[in-house]
Amino acid sequence: MRKWAIFAGVALFGLGLLLAFGRPWLAQRAFDRALDQNIGIDKSLVLGDGINAYVCGSGSPMPDADRAGPCIAVLAGNQAFVFDAGSGSIRKLMRMGFPMEKIQAAFLTHLHSDHIDGLGELMLQAWIAGSRGAPLPIYGPAGTDQVIAGFRQAYTTDEGFRVRHHGEKIANPAGYGGAAQIINLPDGVDSQVVYEKDGVRITVIRVNHAPVAPAFGYRIDYKGRALTLSGDTVYDPAFVTASKGADLMFHDAMNKNMVAAMGRKLAERGHANTAQIMTDIQGYHASPEDAARAAREAGVSTLVLYHMVPPVTAKLIEPLFLGKAPALFGGTLKLSQDGMIVSLPAGSKAVKFSSGL
Ligand SMILES: [Zn+2]
Ligand SMILES: [Zn+2]
Repeated sequence: MRKWAIFAGVALFGLGLLLAFGRPWLAQRAFDRALDQNIGIDKSLVLGDGINAYVCGSGSPMPDADRAGPCIAVLAGNQAFVFDAGSGSIRKLMRMGFPMEKIQAAFLTHLHSDHIDGLGELMLQAWIAGSRGAPLPIYGPAGTDQVIAGFRQAYTTDEGFRVRHHGEKIANPAGYGGAAQIINLPDGVDSQVVYEKDGVRITVIRVNHAPVAPAFGYRIDYKGRALTLSGDTVYDPAFVTASKGADLMFHDAMNKNMVAAMGRKLAERGHANTAQIMTDIQGYHASPEDAARAAREAGVSTLVLYHMVPPVTAKLIEPLFLGKAPALFGGTLKLSQDGMIVSLPAGSKAVKFSSGL
């Protein structure tokens, strides 16, 4: 007993000495470890072949400390794609170890600001990480060319800085910016293949975000697995039809009772204009119940909600936000979080969740 007491005393004394004088050493050790585990590592390699969907932004335009603006990135085999680039999402994507150098193209669902405000950062990072020799193809509705040109203009001085500082071998001016690929769906056509290469097929889907039109969802197919993402829409039969046979659906979701309550509070406190906006926005988003219905009718096994309005800031609030949705959909239903990775391994029916943060 005495021996143990002496041993414990010596150990405590040693720990005290380490804390008192060894902090720089401990800090260096912690930094070296972080360096070793993160820098220059393609963390996606452990995920295996199939479709891997990275939730780089699960939020909406409403400020949220934990959620970046809407963004889903997809790695299918050796090809990577980014769907929407909301504010803060590209940094989340890089933090998740997404292989930016493999980005083949970006796709915009529509041109609402919350879906494009990280586009400048995406073009910049894809340029440098991929040592691109040609601008990044960016698919989207009419007006996408204007958006790209605007970002390009805003970043022109920065481009010059980087080319001069790092040299043309690293920052090749020919690879800077984005090349607009405007999608024009003919009247009466609700979906169309817009990208097909090395086993990856990407289909655009017309969705209903009126009065914003056109607005698109997308479907990604690879090695017998598929996911769809809605962008911003109400319940839309065309999106349901295009999602048939897919394994996984990402759907936007707005709890209208909660938004209405926010509107009433704003009105009570004299903010008539923002109160009116809370009423206006209820007409062009799906509720969690609408999303559950879409997923059930499409027959997908897994529904992941994203672009949640209002922000779901605590686990405690989740059941309130979801309302009757769990009762309407018998499959796996989850609220997404930034950093979530959903994997659809090739040659299997499995849907696996992991965290990239
Ligand atoms: Zn929108
Ligand atoms: Zn939106």
